[in-house]
Amino acid sequence: MTKKMRPLEGKEKEYFDNLMQAREAVTQQMQYHAEDALDCSNADKRGVTTHMADACSDNSRHEMELRMLTEEGDVLQLIEDALQRLADGEYGKCQECGNPIQEGRLKIRPYAIFCVKCKEKHEREMRG
Ligand SMILES: [Zn+2]
Repeated sequence: MTKKMRPLEGKEKEYFDNLMQAREAVTQQMQYHAEDALDCSNADKRGVTTHMADACSDNSRHEMELRMLTEEGDVLQLIEDALQRLADGEYGKCQECGNPIQEGRLKIRPYAIFCVKCKEKHEREMRG
């Protein structure tokens, strides 16, 4: 799937490493949650431990797992997009105003697509 990328240097290499790390972390989390959700659906068949049966009978927990899986899937998509933008030399640009996204923000969220200003604007709009 990965197409040949031009060599990355300096900052870009750093961003690339950050993104790869974030991708691995999210993939691991997804696996963990997927296995957990699967365990619950197989719980009756396998005669599992009381601990597991208890956990599985807790429906809200199960729903939370599934919701987290969806969110992690979204993040994974954002990371893939960010890697693509890095390959295109478009990484770190706000998708709304086109200004560079603050470096400190990219460190915490290497897959961010909006600068702080635009993100705050969106959050205000969502709250109404
Ligand atoms: Zn912006």
